[in-house]
Amino acid sequence: MTDRAMTDRVTIAELSRMITAAACRIREQHAWLSQLDSTAGDGDHGSAMLRTVARLENVFSGGKFSDLKLAFSEAGWSVMGGDGGASSCLLGAFFLGIGEATGAGTASWNCAELAGAFQAGLAAVQAQTKARPGDKTMMDALAPAVETLAQASRAGADIEQALAQAARAAKFGADRTKEMSARFGRARLLGERTRGSEDPGAASIALIFAGFYAGISGLKGDAGYA
Ligand code: ADP
Ligand code: MG
Repeated sequence: MTDRAMTDRVTIAELSRMITAAACRIREQHAWLSQLDSTAGDGDHGSAMLRTVARLENVFSGGKFSDLKLAFSEAGWSVMGGDGGASSCLLGAFFLGIGEATGAGTASWNCAELAGAFQAGLAAVQAQTKARPGDKTMMDALAPAVETLAQASRAGADIEQALAQAARAAKFGADRTKEMSARFGRARLLGERTRGSEDPGAASIALIFAGFYAGISGLKGDAGYA
């Protein structure tokens, strides 16, 4: 493990930059996300994600929190209480799961702690849905992103390197949903006819992790991890 890997940590300030960059990517692409959702669902995914990222920014950039447990718990409830849509419910569970797994008064995480918190978030989503990678949902991007983050951390990566790898895994997973047939959510009603089109929830997760990496690395441009 390098010195940098041992010393680098994220606090609410870095998380705020990560969330802001993620929100920026969702805002740039919300029309495309809704378009993907109109192929197989009800066409509202872009607007649902606009509400989700606004709620996240409100929590992380509002200067109200320095305790990560409180911030993620608040973010989880806020996103989940949004609009009753599937993505808000599942993303809310992700942030709430992170909050539940974080010790009271935690002000920062190292890479392993960040990865552990995200793994708890993933487990909370997995408790809400039986969808797994291969079913053409957001799990196709979220599961590999979180697993890659954990693997990178175990291999001694620093936070920036680990998030770069996680962002790449999320994008790869989202791209692969084009070849899949939907088995969950509204899109399952179209099943085989969803082949050829990317799952909107997976596309959002890829944008969010791209933003997380960009927020940490200070990248301004798009898809800097590519
Ligand atoms: P809704 O389907 O309620 O309109 P959104 O349009 O915001 O919600 O989100 C749709 C996305 O949510 C899908 O593309 C998929 O990634 C994800 N999703 C929907 N239902 C499920 C489910 N049961 N399990 C996992 N992911 C799901
Ligand atoms: Mg929808």
